[in-house]
This record gives sequence, C-alpha cells and structure tokens, in this order.
Amino acid sequence: MNTKYQLESVNCCYCDSHKYSIYIENAEEMYIGLHDKFNVVRCDNCGLLYTNPRPTIETIDYFYPDNARYYNTSLSDPASLLIKDPRILHTLSIDFNYPLTLSSKQSFLRKTTAAHYKKTIQLKHIPSYVPNGKLLDIGCSWGSYLYKMKWLGWDVYGIETNSQAVRYAKKKLDLNNVFNGNLDDYSLIKNTFDVVRMGMVLEHLHHPLTALYKINYLLKPEGTLIFNIPNASSLELKIFGRHSYFLHIPQHLYHFTPATIEMFLRKSGFSIKQVLYQKSTKDWTKSVENTNCNFLKKCLNNKYMNSIIHRGLLNNLLPLTSLMGKTSRMTVYAKKTY
Ligand SMILES: [Zn+2]
Repeated sequence: MNTKYQLESVNCCYCDSHKYSIYIENAEEMYIGLHDKFNVVRCDNCGLLYTNPRPTIETIDYFYPDNARYYNTSLSDPASLLIKDPRILHTLSIDFNYPLTLSSKQSFLRKTTAAHYKKTIQLKHIPSYVPNGKLLDIGCSWGSYLYKMKWLGWDVYGIETNSQAVRYAKKKLDLNNVFNGNLDDYSLIKNTFDVVRMGMVLEHLHHPLTALYKINYLLKPEGTLIFNIPNASSLELKIFGRHSYFLHIPQHLYHFTPATIEMFLRKSGFSIKQVLYQKSTKDWTKSVENTNCNFLKKCLNNKYMNSIIHRGLLNNLLPLTSLMGKTSRMTVYAKKTY
C-alpha cells in the first residue's frame, strides 16, 4: 500500500458532475522520476480534462521536493535577468508606455519596431505600463520575473509555497514582498492590484476556479490577469498521448484547452483579450525522450538528424500549429469584467 501520499476521487470542478470517461490511461510521473501512474479523465457533461484520482492537497508535496527544477537557480548575477536588447527596450517605450530613457542608438531603432517584438514582450508576460502600478506574481518561485518587473518600475508582490525559493528571492534579489505560503493563506484586500500574473501555475492547483475568483477579488476594476498553461488540445498530445512532456502528471491536476479555460474565465468574471500559442521545441524533444523509443532518441542524439528535425521539421511545423492554436502552451491575457 502506498504510504507516501493519499489519493482522492473528485467531481468535475467546473460543473460538479461525477460522470467522466477515461481520456488518457496510465500516464507516468516523469518530471521527478517517480514513475507512479495516473489517469486523465474527461467530464461527460462539460468536457473538462482533469487528473483523477489525484494526490490530496495535504500530501501532494511528495511530488514537489525542494530540489525540483521549479525552485532551482544557478544564477550568479541578477543583472543577467534584466532586458538588454535595444529593440525590446525600444518597443517597451513606444508601444507599452514604459518611461525608459533610450540611448540615441536605441531611438534610431524606432523605425524597425515590429509586431515581432510586441509578441516577444507579450510572451514574457510584460503588460503595458501603469504609473505606480501594483503587480502580483502567484507561484513566483525565486523571483526572476518580479526582479525584472521591479526594474521596469512596478511595485511588486509575490506568493510562493517553497520556502527555499522565497529565501532566495528576499536575500539575493531584494524582493521583500514575497509571501511564503499559498493563495488561500494570503490576506485578500479587494481591488489591490493592476496586474496578477501566473506562470505555469493554474494547472497545478487543486481548486483553480476558486483561485480565479480570488484573483478577480484582488484585481482593480478592469485589471489584467496574465498567465500561461499547457494546451491539452495541442498536436503534441494527439501524437505523444501519455508520453507528452507537458502532461506533467500528477503535478498537473487540470489539462485545459482554449475552450475550457474560456469557460473558467467567464464564470469567474473575466473576458479573454488575447491568447498567444507558444512555440516550444523543448516540449517535442522531451516528449520523444519520454516515449523510450530508441530510434527516435538516436535521431535526436545524432548531430545531423537533430539539425534536420529542428530546422527542417519543427521550425516549419511550430509556426503553423501556433496559428492553428495547436501548440503545447498558451499565454492568456484576460481582463476583469465584473
Ligand atoms: Zn464538468
């Protein structure tokens, strides 16, 4: 009998239906290397995909050891986190209203500002500048995003469950407003923040809808929520199934699609402003590794084959799947509507 964690069977968190069908069977824990097996089920009523049964909220820490990559940093110089690319700095100044002092060389780049750099900035979760704006990062780990945003002029706050990561954020990055705990323990003051951000967090939560309600409460009217999550309607999941790297089971308790995340946001008082489909070659190559197929692994390890796979195949396939909304990760910008 397993004594390291406890399992619970749950109803659908969106519609409370107890009826579901197995969607993916026997997906293995691969991120830490524990190899315990779990199922992804699909709610028969609303279509939500979720891990069921799942480790309880009291015992899931077993799958989040301190040495997990979520919390690790080998950072030697915090300044390396800051933005140096003049084209990005320039776009931040012109299109995102940041009060940056640009050098003459940077202002010369004005004419070259393109949609490409705007998208790069959006994928980095950098919102338009708000004077004296307050920003909260939920699941901020050791604070790399907050450090950058503080440098860009934001009054920054963070929430992080891992005490080791919080210690690093406070001591090494001088981020004093990082709270060690989870959103449930955070003191909620209505209409506090202009922006709330979550980087690959929502899918890890036992109660994502409750979290969205709380974020709505914390945000000022028309405040912005920025987050990224895996995309369960991606081509990778179709191809690799239970071996898909971003399935990340059982740490990922929910497996959202563009349709189901929109349902969640609408119900919790948000409207979607924009969805960007990230192009990750890493998700493809890690999924190949997970398949344990020696032929595919040999191809990736071969210099020439690797180049053909990356340059010839993925570099052409990913832009296409991104346009179709079928890449493995999506970045969502949503606005508080009520
Ligand atoms: Zn449901």
